[in-house]
Amino acid sequence: MSDKPYKMACSDDNCGWIGDSNKILTAPDPFNPGQDLRACPDCRYQTLHTCCDEPLCYNQDTCGTPTPTGYRRTCGKHVPKLWRSPSPTT
Ligand SMILES: [Zn+2]
Ligand SMILES: [Zn+2]
Repeated sequence: MSDKPYKMACSDDNCGWIGDSNKILTAPDPFNPGQDLRACPDCRYQTLHTCCDEPLCYNQDTCGTPTPTGYRRTCGKHVPKLWRSPSPTT
C-alpha cells in the first residue's frame, strides 16, 4: 500500500463529500474477487468518482492526457491544451 492518496468526491447531489481516497469505505467485491467496492463515507452510496488533477477542481476526471511531466487526469475543462498530442489520422 504505497499508493499516495488521491482526491475523490461523491457524485450524490445531497451529499457532495470530497476527500482523500484513504478515507473512503472499501469492502471486498463479491462479484470481482481481488477488487474492492468503494463507497462514500458519508452517504454510503457507491457514487464516488476520482477527481481532476487541478488542485481546486472536484469534477470527475474524464480525460487522461500524457504530458512530458507525467500522465494528467483532468475534467474536460482542464485538459492540458499545450500538450495535446496531434491526433493521428489513420
Ligand atoms: Zn456521499
Ligand atoms: Zn478540472
